[in-house]
Amino acid sequence: MPLFDYVCQDCGHRFESLVRNTEEKVECPVCKSEKTERQIGRPSVQMGNPYIPKI
Ligand SMILES: [Zn+2]
Repeated sequence: MPLFDYVCQDCGHRFESLVRNTEEKVECPVCKSEKTERQIGRPSVQMGNPYIPKI
């Protein structure tokens, strides 16, 4: 399962979550808000060059 970084829009808490379905809402573990934003561009699992230019 992919591991994603999330940032809560309400309290600013940053956490990681294993997500099976990326359409699924992820709840903030601190304030239980569903206003969480998935952070992309920093793969935690993937190896190799992290700075691949987007074409
Ligand atoms: Zn929160």
